[in-house]
Amino acid sequence: MKIRFLGGCREVGRSAILVDGILLDYGMKPCNPPLYPLNGLRPSSIIVSHAHLDHSGVVANLMDLRPGVFMTPVTRDLSLLLAHDTLKISKRQGIFPFDMEDVQLLMQRVQPVTYQDCFQVDGYSVRLFDAGHIPGSASIHLDGEKRLLYTGDINTLNTRLLNGAYGRYPDADVLIIESTYFGRTHPNRKELERQFVESIIQTLDDGGSAILPCFAIGRTQEILMILDAYGLSPYVDGMGVDVQQVLERHPSYLRDIDELQDAFNNAKVVEPEHRSLILKEPSIIVTTAGMLNGGPVLYYLGKVHDDPRSKILLTGYQIEGTNGWSALERGYVEIDGEMIPLNMQVEYYDFSAHADDAQLKKLIKGCKNVGMVFPVHGDDAEVFAQWIRNNCSCDAIAPKNGDEIILD
Ligand SMILES: [Zn+2]
Repeated sequence: MKIRFLGGCREVGRSAILVDGILLDYGMKPCNPPLYPLNGLRPSSIIVSHAHLDHSGVVANLMDLRPGVFMTPVTRDLSLLLAHDTLKISKRQGIFPFDMEDVQLLMQRVQPVTYQDCFQVDGYSVRLFDAGHIPGSASIHLDGEKRLLYTGDINTLNTRLLNGAYGRYPDADVLIIESTYFGRTHPNRKELERQFVESIIQTLDDGGSAILPCFAIGRTQEILMILDAYGLSPYVDGMGVDVQQVLERHPSYLRDIDELQDAFNNAKVVEPEHRSLILKEPSIIVTTAGMLNGGPVLYYLGKVHDDPRSKILLTGYQIEGTNGWSALERGYVEIDGEMIPLNMQVEYYDFSAHADDAQLKKLIKGCKNVGMVFPVHGDDAEVFAQWIRNNCSCDAIAPKNGDEIILD
């Protein structure tokens, strides 16, 4: 088995791992300018773990190779939404990773596969397992001369939207595990929800608006469900609205479609032509993009950035170099090339859909017969590898982008 690590090593973003002829994920790092995986790979097949830009964002770029492409039906439909959005942003930035024809080719080439179904790819028996991270997300198990489990992004705990990861994997010799939150512990979820809701209510009481930037897939729905549970009625704007329509076509990938529908019906959808009417009174706005890199959120920030009563409540991980990161760390955002200082308040809430330190360690301890672990997708992957070598009965290496490893 030959493994080439082409992106997403010792960093979060642009995941791409080639296992013999099979490419696991092909994403971009959504910073400015965007970064892509290293060049020079020619996969015969691609298996996509989930529909986040940093895992699936540039798969359409490889369609000239005519690969077989495998993913869950939800990931296929969500990837199509993301690809359309990327094309829209590309037009503005003048950077084109692929075109509409590539997207159409990708959709023709996708072979949808559901969790736990066994299918054959390039000499491997492959199965996908629910990763609990976003709807349709999968861990990927390859069974050939060697057996490999790639967690993809994974959450082992239940959320309002999703059940936690499947957890009972077949044996593997090699484990490639994400490590986004290695060394960190998520706050108690119920307590976090309570603080989040209190902060929103306080903002409205002060006469300000609460801007809730959310990733379109997963986070928008989770936040709408929290607000509904606490009796708050928000506006919802941006791609999260399109995602809702996709999810309603795939209810079996959700924990409770009725609860999600109730939460969505509790929100008022903002039509773009009516956006200017929203901030006339204190409002709660759930909107994209989650890292403030484009989307309607920038329109709202443009209106309220100078109002100290208003607040941005970031709801997810902010990759360094994104607008969300600079809002938190430096107190400004870039809108249409202009640096806008934020006089409004900025808060961060760890509504992560990734396993934290304890969950990651438990996951590794649960994979009893693994001989080699490669932690990826995290800034502290090297420390994680050291921890594994010291505490588990297996070897571990934190690969670098460009590393090629042959396992006999
Ligand atoms: Zn993800």
